[in-house]
Amino acid sequence: MLRVCSFEIEPLADESLGVRSMSFLVATPDVVLLLDPGASLAPRRFNLPPHPEEFRALAEARRHIVDRAEDAEVLVISHYHRDHFTPPYESLYECCDKNDFTSIYNGRKELLAKILDSKTPFNQKKRAWQLARELEKLGVKVRQIGEGSVNFGDTTLSFFLSSHGSSKLGNVLVVILKYRNECTLIYAPDVQGPVDDAAFSRMLTTKFDLAVVGGPPLYLEERSEELSNIAKKGLANLAALIKANPRRVIVTHHLLRSSDWMEALERHGVSEDDILTYSSIRGVPLTLLEARRRLLFESDPPPPGYEDLIAKHKGRKCTGLLHELQG
Ligand SMILES: [Zn+2]
Ligand SMILES: [Zn+2]
Repeated sequence: MLRVCSFEIEPLADESLGVRSMSFLVATPDVVLLLDPGASLAPRRFNLPPHPEEFRALAEARRHIVDRAEDAEVLVISHYHRDHFTPPYESLYECCDKNDFTSIYNGRKELLAKILDSKTPFNQKKRAWQLARELEKLGVKVRQIGEGSVNFGDTTLSFFLSSHGSSKLGNVLVVILKYRNECTLIYAPDVQGPVDDAAFSRMLTTKFDLAVVGGPPLYLEERSEELSNIAKKGLANLAALIKANPRRVIVTHHLLRSSDWMEALERHGVSEDDILTYSSIRGVPLTLLEARRRLLFESDPPPPGYEDLIAKHKGRKCTGLLHELQG
């Protein structure tokens, strides 16, 4: 745990630690919050499955999230992509099972989750309904949140919605956590920079001590003109936010799916000393795995039949796969 003004923070999992996630623990003097309790791997990148090293990192991230969830009194789910919540079924690419689900969301907790609205894509709605159904069985009540605020003692959580970038992906829930007038933290997952004008201006005009910001998806730039524009605008906005708040922005998520992410920020006048990452706060080396997947397959090729082994373990927690790879 690291102390930032009145908060204790602990970044749990993200791309700098080898997985897709933004899972983050923050304790204010009033309440312990776990933001986006999920982690996953890209089933396909560079036309390759995850490298065994990625499954090892995911198993570690999963253990960490389950372990720290025990202390959390309130959970927040920003949207229904599976790197942001733990689904109620066994899964290889999330490396979870029913026990993990129960441990993470047990009945003592309050769950604040993004509302479903007309912009929410159908696949996210389906996941949210399934999640709510299974949580009800655990006795967990889901409180749907859009704009507005929720108080825990002197801690205020102010929520607003921001675009996920592409119109096809709907919105995400951003939270501004404030303790009295002493300490402010912004948690802005999957805002892609932020690319959304309203979210950008709100973040730029908020005086904060720390912001956890989902960076732009440079790795998708080639896919379409829309995605290229999102990446470019998101990168410029992120750089502006960092330059206005040096050493206060944790850069994470989509941006770190490209190996040259720091060079991209440097071209906008941001230096390495200006930013924080999950790994730098944890005091461990930056461990990009998905971005380096092709190189990992070259330098440390998995055993023959690896793809068949993955197919065999689909729908099962990744620890079984890891066990077989070891044996
Ligand atoms: Zn997302
Ligand atoms: Zn995400």
